[in-house]
Amino acid sequence: MAAPWEDILRNKPAVQEAASVAVDAALLEGVLMRTEREPNASDVVSYAPFTLLPSAVPSALFEQAYAVQQDFNLLVDAISQNKEFLERTLASTIKVDDFTARLFRIHMQVLEEGLAQSVFLGINRSDYMFDCGVDGTPALKQIEINTIAASFGGLTSRTAAVHGQVLKVLGRSEEASRLLPNNPSKGLALGIAKAWELYGSQSAVVMFLVEEVQRNIFDQRCVENELWNRNIRVIRKRFRDVFEKGSLDDAKRLYMDGQEVAVVYYREGYVPKNYDQQNWEARLLLERSRAVKCPDIATQLAGTKKVQQELSRPGTLERLLPGRTEAIARIRATFAGLYSLDMGEEGDKIAATAIADPDRFVLKPQREGGGNNLYGEELRQVLEKIRDSPERTSYILMDKIKPQPAMNYLLRAHSPLQVSECISELGIFGVYVRQGKEMVMNNAAGHLLRTKAIEHADGGVAAGVAVLDTPYLV
Ligand code: ADP
Ligand code: MG
Repeated sequence: MAAPWEDILRNKPAVQEAASVAVDAALLEGVLMRTEREPNASDVVSYAPFTLLPSAVPSALFEQAYAVQQDFNLLVDAISQNKEFLERTLASTIKVDDFTARLFRIHMQVLEEGLAQSVFLGINRSDYMFDCGVDGTPALKQIEINTIAASFGGLTSRTAAVHGQVLKVLGRSEEASRLLPNNPSKGLALGIAKAWELYGSQSAVVMFLVEEVQRNIFDQRCVENELWNRNIRVIRKRFRDVFEKGSLDDAKRLYMDGQEVAVVYYREGYVPKNYDQQNWEARLLLERSRAVKCPDIATQLAGTKKVQQELSRPGTLERLLPGRTEAIARIRATFAGLYSLDMGEEGDKIAATAIADPDRFVLKPQREGGGNNLYGEELRQVLEKIRDSPERTSYILMDKIKPQPAMNYLLRAHSPLQVSECISELGIFGVYVRQGKEMVMNNAAGHLLRTKAIEHADGGVAAGVAVLDTPYLV
């Protein structure tokens, strides 16, 4: 399943020439990121890291990933509406994980008060790797589904053009013409626009809830611009701004600086460090409001690792999606082995297995954003320490996916040009809008391919490990 340019990788002068074309093309196309030194200013910007060449992706697995996305949208949406399931599934986790517990408390509070909005907007990204089985046949295995702040839909809308140009420069125009168009930023914006329309106020705005440090602003601007093009006003605010200037009126309409907010699109709020006491209060205000939340807090909880693990238990999908036999089969086919570390015999047994053979597993806490999982010797040490304590229930265990590596160059500002052995992770963006009981939109909105050197077990693009890529179907 190798891409047809192994020969090019060894031709250093051609690679050097192509790399300088690639970087300029990335800048021209807008594959941009602010710099580490000036993360909140756009005076001097750089390119987001990316591969020199597109990576080979088996077309059957690519199609499989697209084909299951609407099923995953339905599943996430069903979980978010199932109070009992979330309560039961997260019961052990929230006893030991304070962050999940706080999210859960807000979830319960808004349910008790009664939800002020019946329109729901979900934007997620389901991530996969291509696991190489014993016979070497790759299989699509889900890493996780991100139900809040799934990023890079904007920048990845522009990488195919960059890679197309690189291939042309290298004399591969035929292959360049085979790169697929991809525009998640438009698909995401269509979902946001639909929610805005259903909210039903021409003068209301869409609020992007953004981080204090905004290095990845261009990725968000791609989506913002799609909304402006549809004459929908966008404002960018932080939790701090919401705490200081946000308010609800008697009908729980959300106002920021006197502007009514129709949709809150979170690009923040998924890790504990995003919150101090004021930010928690701001989050509660947003959740209580009539604005459409993307995602609402129940949908964020549906994306926890603990929920993912419970989904793999026999019978769970059947209970969540009654009657949808085919969707369930498509979803289940993407599951890797996932194991609960809840106290009891089942958890004791899998903990002992993982301690004895740590390279078979990944140990995952309830965290997002990369760099939190434990592997190998570190996994063994941590699990050994907590194996008899309830602390272990804040983690889950997962089978380690082992993809076939391929050679590529990872282009990063100020880094030497050197060939690396790499593995890739494919993400499919899902967008859906539900009004009351009716799904009014349910789409797969595009893809993201990220590639990293094999020496890094963990980590995404924002974490500085993976880089943007474009799939070349084989
Ligand atoms: P996060 O929420 O931090 O993004 P992920 O579950 O996506 O957590 O894990 C982060 C990274 O760790 C992934 O992008 C992938 O590179 C690696 N990883 C996660 N789970 C596995 C697994 N089961 N097998 C191999 N690598 C994994
Ligand atoms: Mg991830």
